[in-house]
Amino acid sequence: MEIINVDAHITAIDHNLLGVPGVGVTYVVRGETVALIETGTSLTVPHTLAGLEKLGVRPEEVEHILCTHIHMDHAGGAGYLAAALPRATVYIHSTSVPHLVDPSKLVPSVRRAVGEAAWPLHGDIKPIPAERLLPAEELRLDLGRDVVLAAIATPGHSPDHLSYRDLKSGGLFIGDAAGLIMDHWGLAFPVTPVPTYNLVAQRNTIALLRGMNLPRIYVTHYGPHDDVDFQLERAHAKLEELVDLTEKALDAGESDTIALAAEWIRCPDDSPAVTMARSWSEMSTAGMLRYLKKQRSAQG
Ligand SMILES: [Zn+2]
Repeated sequence: MEIINVDAHITAIDHNLLGVPGVGVTYVVRGETVALIETGTSLTVPHTLAGLEKLGVRPEEVEHILCTHIHMDHAGGAGYLAAALPRATVYIHSTSVPHLVDPSKLVPSVRRAVGEAAWPLHGDIKPIPAERLLPAEELRLDLGRDVVLAAIATPGHSPDHLSYRDLKSGGLFIGDAAGLIMDHWGLAFPVTPVPTYNLVAQRNTIALLRGMNLPRIYVTHYGPHDDVDFQLERAHAKLEELVDLTEKALDAGESDTIALAAEWIRCPDDSPAVTMARSWSEMSTAGMLRYLKKQRSAQG
């Protein structure tokens, strides 16, 4: 578990997502009280708790746990974190609140989306009592000491996707809204998973983010980035590249998601990130194929 200092009031805990350092973080935002942004999976929770201890944050100080969206690596650990942090309220888009109260419908669909090879790396979900959950889409959270977090809708990657603006730094916690950015492995691409991916919404979201003149984005996969224009331009370009490749494959009557992913993303073969990169790029080509196929059959 590594601690990344970002600002005086923001720290990132690398929680060893998928068993690999450099893949996922939980952000710790501190005013008079403490908020966590992103939970990782159930398997990353011990690393996050160890990180909080190292930072000198007592469990009772954490009053808020914010999830950008319902996927396992963003909200999967919420139930275990809530159990360990007795005063914390969990926030997520209202449409996803029921899934954290009763995960039984969610789990099989996530399992299909991530594939059997990567599934054991995603842990399980502990249900959260309804009284500890609140809808996040109108959230404006005053943590004290001028630290305020405000939600904005950033759908596309998933329909429930929210980002949280830190009004003190002006930066935005963008979850997966613009995909993953892992320059340490030469990987950066939008993640467009089945079954709820929406291209129109994600194009609008990336355009919205590009128009916000953000000084910094706090990416969940992975870390803070100040070269915001470059990162968002690249996310846009990589998304359009995937659209073009997928359209061509459909024209040719092909639907091999693995071949398509290999054409789109060159995975670093000898890197610890290879399982993640394969899984997420194949999840993306499967999501885009399904999305564009549906568009075609709706038009035809
Ligand atoms: Zn996601």
